[in-house]
Amino acid sequence: MEHINFLAFAMPAFFLFLFIEYKIVQRKKRPEIFNYESSVSNISIGIAERLINLFIAASFYQLYDYIYDHYRIFDIPSTILVWLGLILATDFVWYWYHRLGHEVNFFWAAHIVHHHSEEFNFTAAARITTFQAIIRTGFWCVLPFIGFRPKMVITMLIVHGAYSFFTHTQLIGKIKWLEYIFVTPSVHGVHHASDEKYLDKNYGDMFTFWDHLFGTFQTEEEKPKYGLTHPLKSYSFLWQHFHYYFEICELWKRSKGFKEKWKAVFGSPAHMDQDIRPILEKRFLQDKANPNQRLRFKNYLYIQLGVSTLILTAFTYYFEFLSAFDKVFVLFFILITLVNCGALLEQRKWIYYLEYARIYMVAVYFLYEKNLTSFFFIPLAIMIFAEQLFSLSKRYQNVVLQLETSE
Ligand SMILES: [Zn+2]
Ligand SMILES: [Zn+2]
Repeated sequence: MEHINFLAFAMPAFFLFLFIEYKIVQRKKRPEIFNYESSVSNISIGIAERLINLFIAASFYQLYDYIYDHYRIFDIPSTILVWLGLILATDFVWYWYHRLGHEVNFFWAAHIVHHHSEEFNFTAAARITTFQAIIRTGFWCVLPFIGFRPKMVITMLIVHGAYSFFTHTQLIGKIKWLEYIFVTPSVHGVHHASDEKYLDKNYGDMFTFWDHLFGTFQTEEEKPKYGLTHPLKSYSFLWQHFHYYFEICELWKRSKGFKEKWKAVFGSPAHMDQDIRPILEKRFLQDKANPNQRLRFKNYLYIQLGVSTLILTAFTYYFEFLSAFDKVFVLFFILITLVNCGALLEQRKWIYYLEYARIYMVAVYFLYEKNLTSFFFIPLAIMIFAEQLFSLSKRYQNVVLQLETSE
């Protein structure tokens, strides 16, 4: 499968563009565009999506093939006109996928993650989850169903995805005349804003036709305030992915009768009880060590993200040649690392055990590869011994979890 090799280069390309954006931001002296914690969080969510995508992308493509082979309505050839039609059709499907993503709780639970980010730069473009990719695939199925060839559809989805990457930046200002046709960074920035007049606007991905047509277009007037109306005050990797599903469950539990329960799942996010999230956060996220202080040892996070990215790039490239055991190992290694990054940002008390779990996992992997499964206890014994002898947990607290004294 050629597309898989091709996707391996998406990661270095992403970091190259991010680097360029960061350098321009520095030169323009607009440091507020980047926020350290938020960028780390955005990138780790993007890495997870790319990682899990490797395991499920093939089934997405098989689904398109299956629908095309069994249920297509028309036989559409691949002419230039058809390609143009497909660009429009793709963006039209996107418009509705995206709009429903904001109007239906169940879909919003996946899409909200993209909107957590209070910074608007290329890292926000990476902030996409697997749940979102799965729902999006459901919508894309319309295209092979109509009769567009799956290969064309897949090519178009990659083009479409690449386009929307470049609309997440503040470095390109408002280009009024382009807005009549194309989604510009300014137009998409409005979509990411929480200001009253910008809410529920600009759902298009490449074109603004649909927003003009359905009355959801809004041009940038005042400078947008990016992020959610009710910001998520957590960088926990898992909580960011799942919090809205928990909120739906809680609302469902509180609702009485079929109609109310239906609304809890398929109703509008505008009607979500705003007191639910704080209650859940108290239940699940109360073990923060120092909620208002920032981590000083930032390089440790950069190293973890860097290593994850390098492994993911190589992993993507060689994915087809690896054994199932290798794949599962890499999957869990990177996921634990990403949970670790979030926990570091939040200074979770349990992070230290996660570090041990990761070291143990690597040791077990190599022992298994060398057929030394009966020696699994050795790294465990060494770790317990080292902990007792050198009180590593204390050292870890003092070195890695060192904090800046004030904000
Ligand atoms: Zn959105
Ligand atoms: Zn966006």
